[in-house]
Amino acid sequence: MSEKTASQKLKEKLFINKENGLKNIDDKKLEEINRFCEGYKQFLAEGKTEREAALTAKTIAKKAGFEPFDRNKKYKAGDKYFVDNRGKTVAFVVVGKKSAEEGLKITAAHIDSPRIDLKPNPLYEDSELALFKTHYYGGIKKYQWTAMPLALHGVFAKKDGSVIEVNIGEDENDPCFVITDLLPHLSQEQVKRTLSEAIKGEELNILIGSRPFKDDKGSELVKLNIMAILNEKYGVTEEDFLSAELECVPAAKPRDIGFDRSLIGSYGHDDRVCAYPALMAICEIESPEQTAIAILADKEEVGSDGNTGLNSDFLRFVVRDLCENMGVDYTVALRNSKCLSADVNAALDPTFKDVMEPKNAAKINYGAVITKYTGARGKSGTSDASAEYVAYVRNMLDKAGIAWQTGELGKVDLGGGGTVAMYIANMGVDVVDLGVPVLSMHAPFEVVSKFDVFETYRTMYEFCK
Ligand code: MN
Ligand code: MN
Repeated sequence: MSEKTASQKLKEKLFINKENGLKNIDDKKLEEINRFCEGYKQFLAEGKTEREAALTAKTIAKKAGFEPFDRNKKYKAGDKYFVDNRGKTVAFVVVGKKSAEEGLKITAAHIDSPRIDLKPNPLYEDSELALFKTHYYGGIKKYQWTAMPLALHGVFAKKDGSVIEVNIGEDENDPCFVITDLLPHLSQEQVKRTLSEAIKGEELNILIGSRPFKDDKGSELVKLNIMAILNEKYGVTEEDFLSAELECVPAAKPRDIGFDRSLIGSYGHDDRVCAYPALMAICEIESPEQTAIAILADKEEVGSDGNTGLNSDFLRFVVRDLCENMGVDYTVALRNSKCLSADVNAALDPTFKDVMEPKNAAKINYGAVITKYTGARGKSGTSDASAEYVAYVRNMLDKAGIAWQTGELGKVDLGGGGTVAMYIANMGVDVVDLGVPVLSMHAPFEVVSKFDVFETYRTMYEFCK
């Protein structure tokens, strides 16, 4: 090997030197990554909706010693509990040795994902086919959701107070559902539409059956037959749809991607790919100095509003209950707290490089992405982390030898987006976004790198421990 020149040495010292994390990776680490990601794939498969992900997370946490919060119990260092919010948002807490007034370590991810919700009155028959009317949830490219198998998940809440779970289309012996699209032969007019209008909102109708009710006479017999099946299976009538939450999601399972199996393709990486690392990290820490809270939240994809979103007071209540239990002031605790808003960013896609500014784009296999700000049009709608806090985070990452990079959500003025960071920042907490880069974000089948998932998990652990 030839000696490094003076300029090479100086470049190493002065320039940013990030490299692909899979270069020179050893077999032991690869094995660790793969093991972690098998658990993640299972979490994805079991939790396709916010309710299911919350339930799965609680099941995992209970095994790690978490119990439901008990107001009458006096908590001490090392105690683990969780606070459930309507089965859709859950906060997991590990009590620290220090007073909460010295600050908390909060990780926040969301467990809702873009999908196709049923309308309150969805069931109809047209041309002797039965269909559901839908209203999509979150930012989707509607045309991506047609002509592929869909599963139906959710609940019917009945007037008697009972809640009936629905989960159909995941088992290979289950039937599934589909949004039909027009054949190319007759798409002369459709193909002239812009991409955003290629499939319109009111065209996202889900095909659910075609057999008429026995051989009776009358109208709407296909609809009647479907209602008869639903009544038999779930004990519901058409009016029960009014108090239901039924969500259509892709019926596919998480799969390894690539000959080298270095990537995972799945529905719902955004943001379970950060929720799972945050959950696993808090399950593994034993007795942290500062109290750690991992919150897995609902409603991020529609702006975090509503009582299960992070724009509600839920997190504030969790912190206040904790502080009352410790006999300290919760506003002091919040103002001294630090948070990683664990959410995804867009990964550089070689096919669509144009939307990225290369110096500030996240790359697959370069580790966890720090996103200092999100927002749009001149940083509107974002909290923009302080220089001091970003310095704290990168020092922590470098000390632990964790692969990390920085990212921006595409070129300036080309679009934008938001996360829960600003809602937590509004409480006086220091927050920055950190998570996994994703390809095909918000598509029915998104792609992440296993290495990046693992480095994000290591980050969450390092932050909370
Ligand atoms: Mn997200
Ligand atoms: Mn999203």
